[in-house]
Order: sequence, then C-alpha cells, then structure tokens
Amino acid sequence: MERTLVLVKPDGVQRGMVGEIISRLERRGIKLVALKMMLVDQALAHRHYGEHEGKPFFQGLVDFITSSPLVAMIWEADDVVEIVRGTMGQTNPKNAAPGTIRGDLGVNIGRNLVHGSDSPESAQREVALFFKEGEILDYNRNNDPWITEP
Ligand code: GDP
Ligand code: MG
Repeated sequence: MERTLVLVKPDGVQRGMVGEIISRLERRGIKLVALKMMLVDQALAHRHYGEHEGKPFFQGLVDFITSSPLVAMIWEADDVVEIVRGTMGQTNPKNAAPGTIRGDLGVNIGRNLVHGSDSPESAQREVALFFKEGEILDYNRNNDPWITEP
C-alpha cells in the first residue's frame, strides 16, 4: 500500500485550516495512519527541501517552514501520492483549480498551506524523515469495501 507525507504548513496552522485540510483528505476516502504537531528545525527543513537548495526562494522557504508549528501526517491508499497532489492543487494557489485545497484557500506561492510528496520515491524518503516506524499505525477500516472495490 502506498504512503505519502502531508504537512499542514505553518500558515495553515496559523490560519486555523488544520481541520479543513484534514477533512478534505478524509472525505476523499484515503486512510490516516500517522499524525503529529511539531516544530521543524533548520536541519530537518534543509533535508526535507534539499532539492530546492540554491534556488532564490530557498532561504525564505526554510525560514517559513521553521517559523511556527506544523502538522505532519501520513496517508495511505493505492496511488495516494497522485490522489493527494490532485486534492492539493497546483503549487501556486493563483493557478490552482477551484475545488482544490490551494485553489480554495490560498493566493500566494510562498503561503500555499500544504505539502504533499511528489512521487512514491520522495514519499518514502520524506515519511522516514518525519516519522519513526513505531509512530505509523496499522489498523483495519470496516468500510474499505465501500471506498475501494476489493
Ligand atoms: P510543491 O511540491 O507543490 O510543494 O512545490 P515545489 O516542490 O516545487 O516547491 C516546494 C515549496 O517551495 C512550494 O510548496 C512553495 O511553498 C515553495 N516555492 C516553490 N516555488 C516557489 C517560488 O517560486 N517562490 C516562492 N516564494 N516559493 C516557492
Ligand atoms: Mg515538492
């Protein structure tokens, strides 16, 4: 089963959008298997956003993501990376489709509320950066056959 890392970034927490964002993901039918609130330090921010090191927005991004608590989660489903990216919308909220989290809740690329891993490979890397294996829960949902055809 595929997993993905989702962050409600500090702007989402500050704006009181944690419930709204989790609710949108829950309503999709994907399964929440880990969740915690945390303050990200410089080292974790650099590792998480390592691919963007050297870009003009990098320092601002690190400062922002470490500035205030965020909510980190792992969601699970077949093709969950693609499903979450679709529900989040385009990176720049200005271009994100209405109906998506970024398209409905944001206006600015530097304050786009949410992070979701961009591939199954990034997801594996990011899940391991944010969570210990013991923090990820394995449980059954009785309504799974009503969400996904067995
Ligand atoms: P994502 O995977 O959709 O989050 O987008 P990226 O991996 O390309 O970028 C990571 C994060 O960096 C984005 O979510 C934005 O918060 C930020 N970011 C990306 N591009 C820009 C930019 O051009 N300007 C600013 N200020 N922030 C950016
Ligand atoms: Mg990305």
